[in-house]
Amino acid sequence: MDDAHSDDLTPAPTGGLPHVVIVGAGFGGLACAQALGRHPVRVTVVDRHNYHLFVPLLYQVATAGLSPADIAEPIRKVLRRHPRIDVVMGEVIGVDLSGRRVLLAGSGHIAYDQLVLATGSAYTYFGHDDWAAHAPGLKSIADARAIRARVLRGFEQAEISRDADEQRRLTTTVIVGGGPTGVEMAGAIAELANWSLQRDFRNIDPRTATVLLIEAGPRILPAFPEPLADYSRRKLEKLGVTVRTGAPVEEVREDGVVIAGRLCPANVIVWGAGIKASPAAAWIGVPPDRLGRIAVEADLSVAGIERVYAIGDTALSLDESGQPLPALAQVAKQQGLHLGRHLPLLVGDGKAIPPFRFRNRGNTAVVGRSSAIFDFGGGRQMKGWLAWILWALIHVYLLVSFEKRLLVSAQWLWRWATYQRGARLITWDTPSDSDPRAAPSSQPGSEPKIPDHRRI
Ligand SMILES: Cc1cc2nc3c(=O)[nH]c(=O)nc-3n(C[C@H](O)[C@H](O)[C@H](O)COP(=O)(O)OP(=O)(O)OC[C@H]3O[C@@H](n4cnc5c(N)ncnc54)[C@H](O)[C@@H]3O)c2cc1C
Repeated sequence: MDDAHSDDLTPAPTGGLPHVVIVGAGFGGLACAQALGRHPVRVTVVDRHNYHLFVPLLYQVATAGLSPADIAEPIRKVLRRHPRIDVVMGEVIGVDLSGRRVLLAGSGHIAYDQLVLATGSAYTYFGHDDWAAHAPGLKSIADARAIRARVLRGFEQAEISRDADEQRRLTTTVIVGGGPTGVEMAGAIAELANWSLQRDFRNIDPRTATVLLIEAGPRILPAFPEPLADYSRRKLEKLGVTVRTGAPVEEVREDGVVIAGRLCPANVIVWGAGIKASPAAAWIGVPPDRLGRIAVEADLSVAGIERVYAIGDTALSLDESGQPLPALAQVAKQQGLHLGRHLPLLVGDGKAIPPFRFRNRGNTAVVGRSSAIFDFGGGRQMKGWLAWILWALIHVYLLVSFEKRLLVSAQWLWRWATYQRGARLITWDTPSDSDPRAAPSSQPGSEPKIPDHRRI
């Protein structure tokens, strides 16, 4: 017994039922818990936050389109219909495999019969961890709020500045990474400046703000077919975004980024260039792959370790042709459902968990007001207005509760009709907090890049 974690936080037993502990209430963990809730097992969900976050719409919080509460739901509320599910808010820092315990920061532990690791991923800075201080990724509510504050504060400061160069710097945003997140951020910031802020300032014209999207590769949206990427580039440029491809960032500094030996001064730098898995592999002592992921078998179990499973971004799961499944909400969710449906049959009747099969629902990104792209695979594509409607419908449908669906739909309709954004408050007040560069949640590492592509 590890004395440092002697406080037993395991919820009270429920009639000798097997106890499944799920670490992480993201897309994978929550889907798994909801499926398990229908079976005679006891479940404990552990997360460092008390809410489930709908990450795909985080960029709208960062660009003042939505408020944090619109895209986050208390985990307890989501799971309250399941009396055999407990929720523990805590930071997991390790796993005691021989004692079958999850170790929490502080002195607590939770005993398990079966363990599901669903702890997601963080941004990686390709060996330049120090860049994280200046260029936060977009992974948490704190990141989004801090970026929003920095963007809006930049316009406020530019309004009272009398120096044209400084005004230009204060209204410049650089987005590193031309994947869907970068494209969506660039389009949304350009719209904010062009339309929402346009008439609100007296000394500056927000429409002259610079939004620069930088991609190291030859084109943006490398995970999409070329015609869709070309369409997106044209759309962004029409919105006033400067797109630079084949432009690797050489340095990220407090005052801007260096590309091709030249400093590009910027007030806000957003990192969207690549991700790495959570450190869960280290907790269970398995060698991670080059992106930090835990290799799992077809049934999502961790090879050689009994009673432990990994799903979502933190797992390396292969498709039928042996290719790694992408880091997508749909993959995590489908894996969580699969495990949640079959794990009770394994522990109850000894029925083996069948191999997981991913069903691709299509790859999408939104490119500003009224336009989006969809790649359904097999040459089937969609772009423009209809794709945008489909994107909006799917995202609303995927939100976790009816209340959020209603709230977000109403705000989107209002915003679409009026061009206004309601969440323009600067609520990141203290001097250190006022700088998103001071509060990135991402934990950079030196691993190479997972392309930021996505499917719904
Ligand atoms: C900006 C952005 C936009 C995206 N857009 C899309 C999209 O449009 N479509 C799509 O399919 N995918 C999208 N993705 C990818 C998608 O968000 C991820 O693939 C998905 O969230 C992975 O789900 P998960 O359950 O593995 O992890 P997550 O959803 O990240 O959840 C992990 C959970 O684990 C918790 N956790 C982590 N470590 C600990 C710990 N030590 N202790 C306790 N709790 C812990 C976290 O708090 C979190 O709740 C996007 C990603 C980003 C960053």
